Formats: sequence, structure tokens, C-alpha cells
Amino acid sequence: MTAISFESERRAMIEWQLRRRGISDPRVLLAMFEVPRHEFVPLAHQQAAYEDRPIMIGEGQTISQPYMVAAMTEAAQVSPRDKVLEIGTGSGYQGAILAHLGAEVITMERVRSLAESARERLVSLGYRGIRIIPEDGSEGYPAGAPYDAILVAAAAPAVPQALVSQLAEGGRLVIPVGTLQLQTLQVISKHGEEISIRELDACQFVPLVGRQAWPEHAW
Ligand code: SAH
Repeated sequence: MTAISFESERRAMIEWQLRRRGISDPRVLLAMFEVPRHEFVPLAHQQAAYEDRPIMIGEGQTISQPYMVAAMTEAAQVSPRDKVLEIGTGSGYQGAILAHLGAEVITMERVRSLAESARERLVSLGYRGIRIIPEDGSEGYPAGAPYDAILVAAAAPAVPQALVSQLAEGGRLVIPVGTLQLQTLQVISKHGEEISIRELDACQFVPLVGRQAWPEHAW
């Protein structure tokens, strides 16, 4: 598969799913155009890679809908050389978008087989600057802190305080918070002792499972 394949599908995704729904950061739109999403889905679903929905990637997990990846990335306001922590590597797609924006990425995945296949995929696609930690990320990764941005790609019952405490000054935490069925995307920013919370779209993610999240088999 070459880098130019699915070009018309990518353009349609940018226009209809992203721009028309309010994604406006040109760097985010370019990254979403340039990163080959079809390389991150199982072969059998490749034709559906640019459709307006999440896609199953195995182990009961999904690669998020393109709009959700773009909305989270835009909300995280990632600049080149930012240090970014992602919780929920999944296919590695969101991590690739962050690396494409020039960020140094640490991404955590509790399902070892997904962490392994994401690692192989990212290496074969030539992505550098992405480190995968195959562990529960609900308490973050203090060894790499502080982070300019933290993105959580799974639904949390509440905001894990460990993640807030690992934000750098001016850092942004983007996280879906709510029930197992429905969440709100929250953007939490840290300025000195002040924490501000902004609510974005309603959303539906797979559960964040771990010590500071849903217990295993809770759903
Ligand atoms: N960002 C991914 C989509 C992730 S789906 C992509 O671009 O493809 C959410 C992922 O979070 C799943 O793979 C799930 O196994 C993982 N996950 C759930 N709870 C976790 C936790 N506590 N720590 C790390 N990963 C977790």
C-alpha cells in the first residue's frame, strides 16, 4: 500500500467529517490527511478505514472515529517538541498523529498483544519518537512527567488525579468522563494552582480499565 492510496477518501474525510464539524487547526487537518489511517485497521476493514465511525481492531477494542481523534488532538493543542502522554495505544493511530505533529510521545496500552502489534506497525511505517509502555495507564507514567498534554482514549468514571498532577504548567488533559455508556469529552488545563475544566462533545469510548478506572469485568 503506498502513501497516495485512498487519497479521495482522505480528502472526503477531511472535508465532510472534520472541517464541516468545526475542526479548523490546519496542522491537525494536515496530519489527519497525511497519516495513512488504512494502515492502522485490520486488512479486512481497510476499505472502511476513512468512514465516519470507529472500527474494531481486535481484543474487543476499537480505533476511534476520525472526528474524535481530530477533536482530541485539536483540544490538546500540541506543538512540535511537546511531550505528550497517551493512555490507550490501541492501533497506534492517535500516537502517529501526535508524532506527526512533532511531539515526543509516550503511549500506554494494557492489552499486551495490542501494544506489540502497534509497536511493529509504527516501526514498519517509520514513526520515530513514540514509546509504547505495555501497562495500565490509569495512574499515568510518572517517570516521564511532566507532560504538555495527556490524551486518554478510553472512558473514565472520573478524572484520575494522578494524570492532573503529571501535567506541566499550562498543560492540557483531554479525557472522556462519564458512565460506561456515555461520556463527555473534558479538557482540563493547569495554570499554577488553578485547574480549569471545559466540556466538549458527548462521546462513546471503550472503558478505561485499571487501578484508577473501571475494574476489570465491570461491564
Ligand atoms: N488511541 C487508539 C484507540 C484506543 S481504544 C487508536 O488510535 O487506535 C482504547 C484503548 O485503551 C484500548 O486498546 C484499551 O485496551 C486501552 N486501555 C483501556 N484501559 C487502559 C489503561 N488503564 N491503560 C492503558 N490502556 C488502556
